[in-house]
Amino acid sequence: MTAEPATNSGDAAYDIVILGGGSGGYACALRAAELGMRVALVERDKLGGTCLHRGCIPTKALLHAAEVADTTREAGRFGIRASLDGIDLGAVSAYRDSVVSRLYKGLQGLVASRSIDLVQGVGRLSSASTVTVEDRVLTGRHIVLATGSYARTLPGIEIAGRIMTSDQALELDQIPRRVIVLGGGVIGVEFASVFRSFGAEVTIVEALPRLVAAEDPAVSTTLERAFRKRKIGFRTGTMVESATQDDAEVQVHLEGGESLTADLLLVAVGRGPVTDGLGYAECGLTLDRGYVITDENCRTGVDGVYAVGDIVPGLQLAHRGFAQGIFVAEEIAGLSPTPIVESSIPRVTYCEPEIASVGLTETQAREQHAEVETYEYNLGGNGKSQILGTAGFVKLVRIADGPVVGVHMVGSRMGEQIGEAQLIVGWEATPEDVSVHIHAHPTQNEALGEAHLALAGKPLHAHN
Ligand SMILES: Cc1cc2nc3c(=O)[nH]c(=O)nc-3n(C[C@H](O)[C@H](O)[C@H](O)COP(=O)(O)OP(=O)(O)OC[C@H]3O[C@@H](n4cnc5c(N)ncnc54)[C@H](O)[C@@H]3O)c2cc1C
Repeated sequence: MTAEPATNSGDAAYDIVILGGGSGGYACALRAAELGMRVALVERDKLGGTCLHRGCIPTKALLHAAEVADTTREAGRFGIRASLDGIDLGAVSAYRDSVVSRLYKGLQGLVASRSIDLVQGVGRLSSASTVTVEDRVLTGRHIVLATGSYARTLPGIEIAGRIMTSDQALELDQIPRRVIVLGGGVIGVEFASVFRSFGAEVTIVEALPRLVAAEDPAVSTTLERAFRKRKIGFRTGTMVESATQDDAEVQVHLEGGESLTADLLLVAVGRGPVTDGLGYAECGLTLDRGYVITDENCRTGVDGVYAVGDIVPGLQLAHRGFAQGIFVAEEIAGLSPTPIVESSIPRVTYCEPEIASVGLTETQAREQHAEVETYEYNLGGNGKSQILGTAGFVKLVRIADGPVVGVHMVGSRMGEQIGEAQLIVGWEATPEDVSVHIHAHPTQNEALGEAHLALAGKPLHAHN
């Protein structure tokens, strides 16, 4: 099924005009073009946005280099004689950039091949059916806003010099000796993990009582234990008041008078929406602290105007942006796609050890359902995890006699196990449904199988 094409009244008549060419915007453009729509995609910087150039891809390349460093450092454990002679950050950056530029080239090719008009420049919503880019007015039957997010800081902490966000940390040309990471959320723990693997002394300062506070508490406990073992310091329940710097170092002033000193302060306190000054409020959109409020169909309340990705409150993840972008293209094409269920969006944190989760935490499940059962399968019983030398677990949360509503995993490489977990939660499978499916031995995936076997009342390699 394809959409009816727009009447082509010159350069500016599109079925969809998309503002922002990141994960949400370009996914919408690709799907809409596939459905036969005429699409304009406005981007002020590089197609691919945060995820490709400053987020997911470059950081995961760094985390892979970090894993190589750790493996080399620990090679003796496996009987392999090797020594880590140092980290050549220039070469690591070149490797990272080569990955990004290959993907960037591929994406540019995809967009060009689908006849999407890529309009380079800063755009602004000038009415419910127009986006103005410098002196061009692009008219669309529908407008999709996808302007993404920026790294936030705190009052009293100015980003400059030794105080930086993930954007500047990705451009470092040498490894700092001592790093303080402000924020123990996803971005904070990922950078802490990389810096530590590269040899820095790292301290995370987090206001909440635990690291990765959005995860199930059992996950935080295991991550904190692993970080202690890796000698990554952390101060939870600790507020930072301000930070000062001079030529030599940065001082981080904590509530209560104590100060910490380091060579670099990485501020990782979350990301805010890029919506200021773009005409959104003037065109009648409802904004809440800068975020664009939508219904479950990504509609803003202004006829014909949709919003996707990080500017919409919820999980700030690239694959949520992709899914919302595709959803909107299909909605506009009249395909009546199924609305996205936020809790079924998989979440992976790529620090060492990795964290992967989908669905409800135990606490959320107990708030929503009268009877809930949980089971924690320890990776101590999983052959492949023992071969890798990792600790961790798979925790299942199910409604009593009902489906699995949450899967929470921690351990080296466990991020790769999220695929099956999301199908289980998304398809509302029971442990009994899953337990008839055979999992290959020895894989880490088997741990998911064993957890379901145990919860279905027939544990195999389970000690509890
Ligand atoms: C360090 C880091 C690591 C991350 N790791 C992961 C990860 O591993 N997995 C994951 O799923 N997510 C990750 N994310 C989050 C992910 O990058 C975002 O959720 C995703 O990029 C959001 O997509 P978006 O389309 O909403 O916004 P963006 O990707 O930010 O794209 C918005 C685009 O709009 C453009 N734009 C803004 N205003 C205008 C304007 N006025 N005119 C024209 N263009 C404009 C911007 O230049 C940008 O290209 C990470 C983020 C960071 C910062």
